[in-house]
Amino acid sequence: MATSPAEKRYTPFIILALVAALVLVLGLWATGRAGEGHAVAAGPEAVQGQYHWKLVTTWPKNFPGLGSGAENLARYVDEMSAGRLKIHVYGAGEIVPAFEVFDAVSQGVADAGHGAAYYWKGKIPASVFFTTIPFGMTAQESNAWLHYGGGLALWQEAYAPFNLIPLAGGSSGVQMAGWFNREINSIADLQGLKMRIPGLAGDVFAEAGGTAVRISGGEIYTSLQTGVIDAAEWVGPYNDLALGMHEVAKYYYYPGWHEPGSMLEFIINKDSFNALPPDLQAIVTYAARAANQDMLDEFTARNNAALQDMVSNHGVQLRRLPDDVLLALYRADQKVMQQLVASDPMAAKVNASYQKFYAGVRAYHHISEQAYINARDVVLDAPPAQAK
Ligand code: CA
Repeated sequence: MATSPAEKRYTPFIILALVAALVLVLGLWATGRAGEGHAVAAGPEAVQGQYHWKLVTTWPKNFPGLGSGAENLARYVDEMSAGRLKIHVYGAGEIVPAFEVFDAVSQGVADAGHGAAYYWKGKIPASVFFTTIPFGMTAQESNAWLHYGGGLALWQEAYAPFNLIPLAGGSSGVQMAGWFNREINSIADLQGLKMRIPGLAGDVFAEAGGTAVRISGGEIYTSLQTGVIDAAEWVGPYNDLALGMHEVAKYYYYPGWHEPGSMLEFIINKDSFNALPPDLQAIVTYAARAANQDMLDEFTARNNAALQDMVSNHGVQLRRLPDDVLLALYRADQKVMQQLVASDPMAAKVNASYQKFYAGVRAYHHISEQAYINARDVVLDAPPAQAK
């Protein structure tokens, strides 16, 4: 085939362009290979340096308040790791039911979980201290004990035999005492009452003459509506409004003697954690710490508006538990606490740490938080000064 003079003239340029394109393609391929080699990490979940975790929760999917803890952790980790660790959040019942979260993470069915330690008291009696105990510390005090008073180290010790790493996973602050369909004027009104109330408080409620029922958050509404239970506690106004508790009970009691500062938990399968490079391990740890604080902030911000809505628009009757009822519950609590400590060495060890810290922080809060709250009420609620 003959070639024209014009084609002959352009041939060297065409060859040059082809060579340049080849060099470019080879260069890009080599860069890609190098990047790939650098990013590939060990571990079964690792594909080109990206990790995927399954996180199972004891709450319904996308549940406001308590449910935000896991969603926030996933979002913070995603943002801080530039997408290298993706945490996929599953609600109760999506992979495992609410009360199988602990076992699922322990056995590696999921990499992480979000729930409350006191749900596992049948397995680990000491776990109640890491959530809350009746008449115990507030959220601020519990956070201090966990992070500066040795609490978290004890929690890790208690969970180590289950191949789990626990981290604080958000706090509701002081909860409400719960929802009742009749007034509670004396301890006699609690006799035989079937109430959804978890943790050590459930044992205390039983000791005081009631019947404690173990029901997950997603099942409370229907159980109360159908009369499976007579009363229930869940969290506080913001979360209880979202659950629709005001539609199935009339009297809303305070204060939350049974849960003065409920701390939720993140649990992480130790093998999944160890498979992460150190920077991702740090990101998970600090993201959990941020999510922990965020929840308390959100509840503090939203509770009052929710309570006002309930009382003003939904006919909720707000009531304070009488002092003699609280005292009777406290006496029952002391009995239950003695039994707990006598029956389990780890519970005794954790209790010793908890009570020592509590005594100190309580002494100081008498002259700080408590004294200030009393003082501000005195001045802010004082009648306005008379004009001269
Ligand atoms: Ca509760």
